[in-house]
Amino acid sequence: MTSLAGIGYDSHRFAAGRRLVIGGVEIEHDRGLDGHSDADVLTHALIDALLGAAGMGDIGEHFPDTDERWRDADSIELLAAVCEELDRAGLDVVNVDCTVIVEAPKLAPHRTAIRERLAGTLGIAPARVGVKATTGEGMGFVGRGEGVAALAVASLATRGS
Ligand SMILES: [Zn+2]
Repeated sequence: MTSLAGIGYDSHRFAAGRRLVIGGVEIEHDRGLDGHSDADVLTHALIDALLGAAGMGDIGEHFPDTDERWRDADSIELLAAVCEELDRAGLDVVNVDCTVIVEAPKLAPHRTAIRERLAGTLGIAPARVGVKATTGEGMGFVGRGEGVAALAVASLATRGS
């Protein structure tokens, strides 16, 4: 068994008239995140961490934002497609850990739902899915409420010997 680690980062800008989807969970807010897909910043960071660990490139190569197929795409479906690819490559997800950097809204009330949604898609226990949130302390684009950033790490194990 070999263990593999990957890192992912993503950010999206707030925009009026958009849904706010973080980790596959829609959150009530006066603005949402802008992007070609549903702009699920957490799921995108997680996908990059998984692809990075697997040596499979990045989210932009797999789901280009120039492709109409991915317009308003449900990022959880993209994550599920990546998980299938990992499975075909003989790779198991051991655990993932994520941090969302957001000034508002508060993520804490949604944390359990996000962990369960991601764990269900990854096929691992919610205890193996870390979801943490922090603010920008008023600094930078997050602190000014211009957008949301997310970081993720993923650990994979090769199946068999
Ligand atoms: Zn993104």
